[in-house]
Amino acid sequence: MSSGQPHWRNRAVFENRDNWKTIGSHLATIRRNSAVSRRLQSLARSIAVKIESLDCVLEQLCRQSCRHCIDVCCLRATIWYDFRDLLFYRLHTGGLPLQKIVKDGAGACIHLSTEGCRLPRCQRPFVCTWYICPTQKEAMRRLPDICAGPDLVAVIRQIQDERKMLGECYMSTDPAP
Ligand code: SF4
Ligand code: SF4
Repeated sequence: MSSGQPHWRNRAVFENRDNWKTIGSHLATIRRNSAVSRRLQSLARSIAVKIESLDCVLEQLCRQSCRHCIDVCCLRATIWYDFRDLLFYRLHTGGLPLQKIVKDGAGACIHLSTEGCRLPRCQRPFVCTWYICPTQKEAMRRLPDICAGPDLVAVIRQIQDERKMLGECYMSTDPAP
């Protein structure tokens, strides 16, 4: 663990899928219907509603930009589930991802298909939702109508704040590192 950092900030702590299960086993120690349990569930529900509210506009943006992209982010980037992703995933679905995000033989994320990402948006690492690439930012400027609906940037900030609160609430119950 790097000095001065909470253990969950250390990516390696959650690198091994077996270690993900510690989140589930710790959550099981929190009394059902306790204030902490209700707070965790309420934050997870709020995050899920917000993420789902963005799906339509993000799909529109992808339709505008990804088809012609020559530097596909899902090919280029190395993505993983961080602690907050896993905590949210567990609270939202009751389970854990079936596997880590790895690359296929061609170097692409295993969840990438010709139609885009196969994972429901709430099951993707949050970086896959908050990352708006320069091409998409330009599309937002050029075609404001495709971004009608929720204020993308504002909602992403609210989700970031709620994910932080989710992590802090979980850590307030003092899980063993
Ligand atoms: S989100 Fe941006 S970088 Fe990623 S595939 Fe679409 S256009 Fe390319
Ligand atoms: S999980 Fe989906 S959106 Fe994220 S990198 Fe993989 S294919 Fe792309």
